[in-house]
Amino acid sequence: YEAKKHKNSARIFASHMQDSYLNKVLVEQKLRHGLEQGELFMVYQPQVDCAGQLCGVEALVRWNNADLGFVPPDQFIPVAEASGLMPALGNFILHTTLNELAALQKKMSLNFDISINISVSQFLQPDFITILTREIMGSGIPSRMVTLEITESLFIEDLDQIIPLLKQINDMGLQISMDDFGTGYSSLSMLRQLPIDELKIDKSFVDGISDNRADQKMIQNIIAIGKNYDLVVLAEGVEDQKQMEMLQRFGCDRFQGYHFSRPLSAGDLEHFLRKAVGCSDETSQTSMV
Ligand code: C2E
Ligand code: MG
Ligand code: MG
Ligand code: MG
Repeated sequence: YEAKKHKNSARIFASHMQDSYLNKVLVEQKLRHGLEQGELFMVYQPQVDCAGQLCGVEALVRWNNADLGFVPPDQFIPVAEASGLMPALGNFILHTTLNELAALQKKMSLNFDISINISVSQFLQPDFITILTREIMGSGIPSRMVTLEITESLFIEDLDQIIPLLKQINDMGLQISMDDFGTGYSSLSMLRQLPIDELKIDKSFVDGISDNRADQKMIQNIIAIGKNYDLVVLAEGVEDQKQMEMLQRFGCDRFQGYHFSRPLSAGDLEHFLRKAVGCSDETSQTSMV
């Protein structure tokens, strides 16, 4: 029922959206209102290492609106970006993620990375570093636990502006991950100049790993680049054991996808962590493979 409801509402949303200016304004108004009315929330998708240990979670934003239903983030984030709502939405995402996980950390020790997606306009906000610092300090989460996920579309912007910002974030102790790597604009020479820690292999390549030679080669190339630059390589959208085994054979370090877990609410994440710890003796850690 849930899935069907989501599918229908996504379709209604898409047909409402089209490219019409009026509809964009409508969605923008609903989003602004929804942000104030608490319609937005965060979910967290586990990431595991080769031993099956939980090594991170990716924070993903959700919007459930009474009229539009469940609207997928890749549809409403562009609206927020285009309409000037992204600073408010981005601040909500940072604040909620850090504080929900800090609350969880008060109940149980968390030793994993917290990955937060940062959109281009959010990253380029003049006060982004100030807000980031304030939110991290305010939450009590150590900055070394925080990873910012950026996309290659950031690099269409002025590199002379972006590189110093990335260096500053790196100096603050945060990790930086390149999301959807290989789908966009970055070049190898650019990669060399950037203080990044992780490459994320896009789901579109993982989808084809079992039977598409071009996707296999792409993944092998990304992993080789990652190894050469001493980066962690994480594959996203891993849906079955066969994909996992091939990725592992190719040398991928970390994995994320429905094969391990769907994105979970903070409450469900707590449950998930307790179950993973509870089913083993005290010396072993959270294993889920
Ligand atoms: P992304 O950052 O590449 O996130 C990964 C997407 O893949 C998520 O979709 C996740 O739910 C989905 N996914 C993970 N594993 C699987 C799998 O095994 N199978 C399938 N079919 N899907 C899987 P989601 O949450 O719909 O987000 C879509 C995109 O929207 C994200 O892509 C990201 O670009 C953007 N987004 C989501 N949350 C945020 C956010 O808090 N801030 C920003 N700036 N962007 C966000
Ligand atoms: Mg991401
Ligand atoms: Mg991605
Ligand atoms: Mg992706």
